[in-house]
Amino acid sequence: MDLTSPLFDRIRAQRKPREEPRPAARRCDAPGCTAEGTYRAPMGRLREGQYLCFCLDHVREYNASYNYFNGMNDTDVARYMKDATIGHRPTWTMGTRRGAKGFREEGQPTEDPLGLYRGGVRRPQAQKREPRYSPVTMRAFDALGLDETAGAEAIRNRYKELVKRLHPDANGGDRSREEKLREIIHAYKTLRAARLA
Ligand SMILES: [Zn+2]
Repeated sequence: MDLTSPLFDRIRAQRKPREEPRPAARRCDAPGCTAEGTYRAPMGRLREGQYLCFCLDHVREYNASYNYFNGMNDTDVARYMKDATIGHRPTWTMGTRRGAKGFREEGQPTEDPLGLYRGGVRRPQAQKREPRYSPVTMRAFDALGLDETAGAEAIRNRYKELVKRLHPDANGGDRSREEKLREIIHAYKTLRAARLA
């Protein structure tokens, strides 16, 4: 059976929620994992009442990525799920493990915001989240009083504002803030060099 066909997707969306399987009969749904699928994980907002079964490692990994859908509207989630089950040709099937053809080792998806398919088979370290930027860059955001989600325009505006506020000309020639000003300029240059501003 071709698990990636739109037909299968339609059938899958309509079928009743699976009964909870006996633990002994069920293996972890993560590709290549032979551990027992002792832990149930909800399949998501469009698959209410349906569950995947994972070992402890993989249920943690799954739960870590599950939050990705928070804040997405229904259209976005639907588009993602559709892409993930059809266009992305996932290495993780959303169905049962017995449909082993759903696990693909080649043809990695080009987009993978969940990180589910990265690396194909097993990623024991996958739940470790890498910081988004280097410590130097993070300190630069800090110096400007911004967090790392600030966009280029916000960075530029904050920089201009701080320079204006700290500049000796704006402080009646008071040079006491020069150190802080230097730090701000350095931080801004750092973010520019990282193409963030
Ligand atoms: Zn597993």
